[in-house]
Amino acid sequence: MDITRRELGRLAAAAAMPRFARAQEQTRTIGYCIVGLGRISMQHFMPGTKMSKHSRVTALVSGHRDKADKMAAEYNVPAKNIYSYDNYDAIAENKDIDAVYIALPNSMHAEYTIRAAKAGKHVLCEKPMATTVADSQAMIDACRKAKKKLMIAYRCQYEPINLRAIQLIRDGKLGKIQAIESANGFNIRPGEWRLSKKLGGGGPLMDVGIYSLNACRYLTGEEPAELKGYSSVIDHDGRFNEVEENLSWTMKFPSGIIVSCNTTYGVNMPGFYRVHGSKGMLHVEPAFGYQGQHLNARIQDQPEIDEPNPNKDPSQFPPEADHLAECIFENKEPRTDGEEGLKDMKLMMAIYRSCGLRE
Ligand code: NAD
Repeated sequence: MDITRRELGRLAAAAAMPRFARAQEQTRTIGYCIVGLGRISMQHFMPGTKMSKHSRVTALVSGHRDKADKMAAEYNVPAKNIYSYDNYDAIAENKDIDAVYIALPNSMHAEYTIRAAKAGKHVLCEKPMATTVADSQAMIDACRKAKKKLMIAYRCQYEPINLRAIQLIRDGKLGKIQAIESANGFNIRPGEWRLSKKLGGGGPLMDVGIYSLNACRYLTGEEPAELKGYSSVIDHDGRFNEVEENLSWTMKFPSGIIVSCNTTYGVNMPGFYRVHGSKGMLHVEPAFGYQGQHLNARIQDQPEIDEPNPNKDPSQFPPEADHLAECIFENKEPRTDGEEGLKDMKLMMAIYRSCGLRE
């Protein structure tokens, strides 16, 4: 029985492959120019494009030619499509490039987005979209002026378990939402650019706390009306001379929902959220990882819902890359557009002000 099933599975996969390959050939695609060959681009986004329907890597921008050559060989990028940061503006003349994917340190996002828009390219920019409200607004304005799309890479908003959580809440399955708890953090190594206020713009709030902040907004579908934050440094080991180590904040939404969030660079803090409603509770953990999302919901008079993400491979990057492609084809605004990034940026600055970390 088992062998037959396995055998059938193999046959089905083999039979589907040529059809799938043919379908891929016929599908419209966009060419992405990858700006910054670091962890997120090389280990996650670029491999994600291989599993996408509408996205291909067609160009690279890097300060390290040897690394660029290696990635170019893997993704069939011709040598003429490899750029440095110095000749980046020449992408304007390259028809293989429809959009750029910006995966640079946070404070460089604004400059490379604005230059891309001026070069006539659409932009998928990593989170946080920038390090200031003014830079975020300038990115939105530049893309609008150039009539190019600006999408922020909030990958969890393209991940099936997070989408399922949103759906359960919107369908009223949890009743009236009262409270949310969320956390996300990790123990940072010394020497990372993330510890530089100039490059990171802030500490764990800008980097990983933003996942909890964004989740509280997409889970409630509301914008916070009030907030309060606290920050601290416990480890005086030289890592936290410029950015916060720990940050906790609370927010009150117009409906009365109260949320409480924690973020840190001091310890490994699993990313999760728990949503408490009048009819039950929903818990997603891990909530913000690259894979392995797991949803558990206990709802009055209902069988328990226990849903791990069925996909073994990271399931967020292909739909994220393809979403921008579809927005370009259909001339529609990305679900996570520049305005979405700007809302988080304004809130993060308000949290920093509440902590006394900004004027
Ligand atoms: P990384 O350090 O691994 O890569 C950064 C890249 O920028 C490297 O290729 C580096 O060479 C290049 N770079 C150019 N100028 C630099 C400079 N002055 N200092 C340092 N690096 C410079 O970083 P990463 O983890 O890939 O993060 C890049 C961006 O992606 C950040 O904005 C981060 O917030 C975001 N990110 C998003 C996710 C996600 O899941 N969406 C995950 C990780 C990082």
